[in-house]
Formats: sequence, C-alpha cells, structure tokens
Amino acid sequence: MSENALRLEGRLANHDREFDGAVEIDTSSGLITHVGPATGASDLDLSGCIVFPGFGDIHIHAREDAGGSQSYKEDFVSASAAAVQGGVTHVADMPNNPVAPVDDARYAEKERLTAKSAVHVTLYAGIGPGTRPLQRHVPYKAFMGPSVGDLYFKSQQELERVIAEYRGRNVSFHCEDPVILDASKGAATHEQRRPASAEISATEFALHLVEKYDLTGKLCHYSTGDGLKLIAAAKARGLRVTAEVTPHHLFFDDTMLTNDNRLWLQMNPPLRGRADRLALIEALRSGLLDYIATDHAPHTLAEKATGMSGVPHLDTYGAFTTWLMKEHCFTPQEIARVCAFNPGEWVREFLPAGFGKGYGCIEPGYTGSLTIVEPDAPYVVRRETIQTKCGWSPFEGFTLPGRVRYSVLRGKVHKATV
Ligand SMILES: [Zn+2]
Repeated sequence: MSENALRLEGRLANHDREFDGAVEIDTSSGLITHVGPATGASDLDLSGCIVFPGFGDIHIHAREDAGGSQSYKEDFVSASAAAVQGGVTHVADMPNNPVAPVDDARYAEKERLTAKSAVHVTLYAGIGPGTRPLQRHVPYKAFMGPSVGDLYFKSQQELERVIAEYRGRNVSFHCEDPVILDASKGAATHEQRRPASAEISATEFALHLVEKYDLTGKLCHYSTGDGLKLIAAAKARGLRVTAEVTPHHLFFDDTMLTNDNRLWLQMNPPLRGRADRLALIEALRSGLLDYIATDHAPHTLAEKATGMSGVPHLDTYGAFTTWLMKEHCFTPQEIARVCAFNPGEWVREFLPAGFGKGYGCIEPGYTGSLTIVEPDAPYVVRRETIQTKCGWSPFEGFTLPGRVRYSVLRGKVHKATV
C-alpha cells in the first residue's frame, strides 16, 4: 500500500454500470483520483466481493444531544462504529432529541458533537410548533403525528401554519395523521393503533404541502402498498419528492409477529401485511422508492420490553443488501442506486467543503468512500458482534446470505468483524 494512495481492484458497481476495474483514492484529500482497468495491483484481495460507492443511511437516530440524557442508548461514537461495521459511510441524523436542533445555535451545538463520529454526519433541523427556518442551509424533518419526542403536531392545520414559513426548503415528513392515530388509540394491537389509513392520509397532506410551498420533499420510512400510488402520481406530475423504505418494512410483515417478538418488532409506522411488504420491494426495484434508510432507533432491551417503538439497523445495513440480491434478485446496480447514489444525491447540497463531487459514485472527483460486500458469505446475526450501544438487532438469529468485508472512509480501510 503506497503512502498516500489506496488502489483497489475488483468488481465495481455504480448505479449505471458494473465492471471489473480499479479505483484509486488519494488518502490525503480523501477523493477518488482514478478509475480504470485492472492491472493486478490491488492493495486488498477482493475476490468474491463487490465494491460499491460508500453506502449512505440518510435516516438515523444517534440520540446524542447537548444535554446527553439519551447517550446511554447511543452516541455519535457508538452509532458511527455500528455504521462502519455495516458498510455505512455517511449518515443523516434526526432531530427529535430532548435538546432538539430547531434553531441555528442548537444546530451548531449538536453539530460540534458529531466531530467524534467516524463517518460524516449530516444533521436535520426539527420542525415543530412555533419553529422557524435556520439561517444555514440544512435539511428539515417534520413529524406530523406523535412518535418519540416532543416535535409533533396535533392537527394538519397546525402543521401547515408552520410549514408555510419553510417555502422552498428541503423537508422530510414522517407520514402518520395525528387525528387518525388519536381515533385508533383504543385498538387492540400496536399495528391497529397506527393503521395504514393514517399513513395514506398524511401522505396526501404532505404531497399537498410539497406542491403548495414548493418544497423538496422526502417521505420517511414508507410502509403502505396503497400509498405508493400517491407517490407515483406525485412524481409523474413533477413534484420534487422522494421516499425512503426501511430494512424492517422490507424484511418483516405482520404475519411474522408472535407473542415472543411482538415488542421487539414494534416501530412507527408499524409492520404491515405481506402484500404491502412485497409492493415495497417492487417499488424499491422500480425506482418509485428511492432510498434504503434504516430509521435506526437504538432503544435498550429494557426500553423495548416496556413498548418503546423503533429498531436498530446500522450494523446490518450492508449485509441486508445481500438478502435483497439473493432473495429478491436485486442487481448490484440497483443496490448501488438505492444505498449509495440516491443518498449521495440527497446529501450533496448539505456537505461542507472537502468532499469533492460528494458521495454515491465510483468516479474521479467523488469522495473516496466505498462499501465492499461479499454477497456469498452467510452469517448468523448475533448480539456479540453488534456495535450499536443498545446492543441488539432485530435480525438476531437470522442468517443473512452475505456480509460487509470492508468499509473505506475517505481512503482509510476498516475491516468489518463479522
Ligand atoms: Zn425516524
């Protein structure tokens, strides 16, 4: 390995082509300097592996804020260790902290805490009752109904009065209609208390806001098959809107819930039916859904036992993509699109100087971060190898068909330990 360059050769997969070749990264600038044919001079043996542009998870909850009251669950050190283990080379962190980043001062304060993260962290600013846009150009998150934290609205009218101040901004929406949630709160199960109709109603309203206030919109953790038609129609009429899907909504559905796993698999929005799950998989393949974003929610086992919603995923992000390739025949190009290219496109405008053309593509000038996956190397997910501070995974006991071998962060190689 030469002193200030990393040269890797193998099977490379971008969103638009897959090829045998070589990539060189300048380790001082952290940028890709050369992509070309292989010559047999690789710094790592990557046989059996696929080299992707660095994966990006643009929806996580690392839980650390200036107050530090939730750092027992996770912080930027442990979240980024889990990210590196899972092949995630950059993340975007949600704002529903006890000390929520809702103005420039609190945003800057939280941003200082991210300096110790091993991967680049983009922070969302929160939109809640009475908030105003920041001076800085940042992405925003609006919680339409109650979830974890205090940043939510009790009605759509209340949300619209605030969103009107955010004209033209980049806003991500958690789509669950608070009125429908309220009307459903006496139902027997968590899944029935947060019905599909709540997501569909909130989707209609979010799309209306995107259009009326000229937003760049993103719908978070999409879960309902019927709601996909609304997204397709909105994209067809030219709205700037994209949508995420989580590993859990792609892998689990409500037919898999048992008395033993029900509490661990509780999240917002909840698991839906099998037909919804299969529709999400097809929508991800077709390009209607844009990103695999985990909604990584590192609650402790004790908290999960009391019914707290959310599941951790950073450790298994890359390995999960091998399940999509093996079980649902996703091509490496399709994985590169939804895990690297689209997240890179979304984050580019928020990156500080020094990231070149940004994340998401193995081409000269892009950030030299890569995710190296071995698709045919099955492993059983076990608690002992999990890096997230909360210390568990919804995939525990499941065999994933492949694993992450290396994460390359701006030219620096990290070997995964599963
Ligand atoms: Zn979330």
